[in-house]
Amino acid sequence: MDMVKEEGYNFGFDPRACENCSGYCCTGESGNIWVNKEEIKKIAGFLDLSSEDLVKYYLTKIHYKYSLKELKISGDFQCVFFDDKNKNCSIYEVRPNQCRTFPFWDYFKNNIEKIAKECPGIKICCIL
Ligand code: SF4
Ligand code: SF4
Repeated sequence: MDMVKEEGYNFGFDPRACENCSGYCCTGESGNIWVNKEEIKKIAGFLDLSSEDLVKYYLTKIHYKYSLKELKISGDFQCVFFDDKNKNCSIYEVRPNQCRTFPFWDYFKNNIEKIAKECPGIKICCIL
């Protein structure tokens, strides 16, 4: 797939970088990956679980929202659905919208250095 660009972002993203990446966007610092009701249903269906069991085993409730759980491994955090062996997402087909839209998050519009450091697919040269 070619370089991906989004209006309003001063960087481009090369999806081919994911092939040789260890999944830096799914590991490292602690953070929330929010999931809504529809996403919960989809992920539960994919894993052949009830929504209730998905919530119980894989989600954390923060105030009124749900986020995917994180595991702490050797001082780093990683998403509960990160496949450590294959270094990719074990629920890729039904991953939440927050993951699908990475790295084009509003936050990174003004934090380009941070995303460029985290994701090897970022190309700052590709200003729109
Ligand atoms: S950090 Fe960037 S290059 Fe690596 S897997 Fe995530 S999106 Fe792909
Ligand atoms: S759901 Fe998949 S893509 Fe999203 S953070 Fe977890 S492992 Fe990464």
